[in-house]
Amino acid sequence: MLRLILLGPPGAGKGTQATRIVEKYSIPHISTGDIFRKNIKEGTELGRRAQEYMNKGELVPDDLVIEIAEARLLEEDCKNGYLLDGFPRTVYQAEKFDEFLQEKAAKIDKVIDIEVAAEELKKRIIGRRVCRSCGASYHVDNMPPKKEGVCDVCGGELYQRHDDTAETVDNRISVYNEQTKPLTDYYEKTGRLARVDGAGDTDAVFAAIVSIIGE
Ligand code: ADP
Ligand code: ADP
Ligand code: ZN
Repeated sequence: MLRLILLGPPGAGKGTQATRIVEKYSIPHISTGDIFRKNIKEGTELGRRAQEYMNKGELVPDDLVIEIAEARLLEEDCKNGYLLDGFPRTVYQAEKFDEFLQEKAAKIDKVIDIEVAAEELKKRIIGRRVCRSCGASYHVDNMPPKKEGVCDVCGGELYQRHDDTAETVDNRISVYNEQTKPLTDYYEKTGRLARVDGAGDTDAVFAAIVSIIGE
């Protein structure tokens, strides 16, 4: 049983590390951002409601997020644990999530906070490219695909997320500082927080995360 939360600003490398963590520990990767993007792609009502906030770099309203996150966590594949990426993102979400866990006599093992300076975050976000088919993430300079515009994993088309632009990135970072950063205190108080320096290369960051979770 292993329940983990990845915290950190947009562009810190949560998705990149999540792919490696879930492979090593055999738990599902639950990204609320991915759930919203899938709904937008499929044209659902949930996608339509989330999109207006996402395009502006604002957070989707708490009640909507909590509902979809909890529904996902009740699915069969989550019964032996999971890695949460991008949820919770407000103190209210964290409190509601703790109530959800308590009702099931469950607990979070570790909250891993990946920290990266704002200037580097901007470069990472603006250069990010994502596979339309499998969601794998690349960077035009730091982690280019073997063939430009094409996913190494599945051959799918790479695209730039609507919210990965110079216009929205500053807003996303300030939204993070105002609404999500206070969560580090919330989890630190209950002894669950571990901080990781996200400035190094992906191997170094992953090694630091493994040393926190344990082999
Ligand atoms: P998040 O999920 O936190 O928003 P991602 O994992 O998508 O972040 O990473 C953001 C961008 O930065 C991606 O383009 C990714 O390829 C790149 N990236 C991730 N980790 C590193 C790293 N350690 N060093 C340099 N670039 C990175
Ligand atoms: P990032 O690379 O910024 O970490 P995500 O893919 O996690 O991106 O999230 C993209 C967008 O989806 C966010 O900017 C926000 O609008 C919305 N979103 C995702 N998770 C949440 C959440 N837990 N609470 C509110 N909004 C969320
Ligand atoms: Zn792909």
